Amino acid sequence: MRKLLRMFAPPPAGLHKTVSHIAQEINACIGCNECLLACPALSEPITIDVLNHATVHGPITESVAHFARSCYQCGACVPPCPVGLHRDAMMLWLKIRLLQE
Ligand code: SF4
Ligand code: SF4
Repeated sequence: MRKLLRMFAPPPAGLHKTVSHIAQEINACIGCNECLLACPALSEPITIDVLNHATVHGPITESVAHFARSCYQCGACVPPCPVGLHRDAMMLWLKIRLLQE
């Protein structure tokens, strides 16, 4: 199933989304966890709440930082989202936050 999702994944999001776009997407997230279930790079459990909180403003835990560094922008997390959000773009912002710190 994951292989199939990866085959139909859209191109990875670029930096065309501003931080306010990302914040809007995080506010719209219903926390269903489908994006993380589809992710081939997640190696240890992370809750969506912690991930979302870290993406724009919150503290970045070691496990979230590890996940952000592991994300390779494959886009497999996007098709499963029931509300059309772009976890890949959110992860890109998290990577930027890591670089800024
Ligand atoms: S873009 Fe990143 S978070 Fe999304 S599925 Fe790929 S590796 Fe996982
Ligand atoms: S799949 Fe979409 S709604 Fe569900 S947790 Fe991920 S981003 Fe949020």
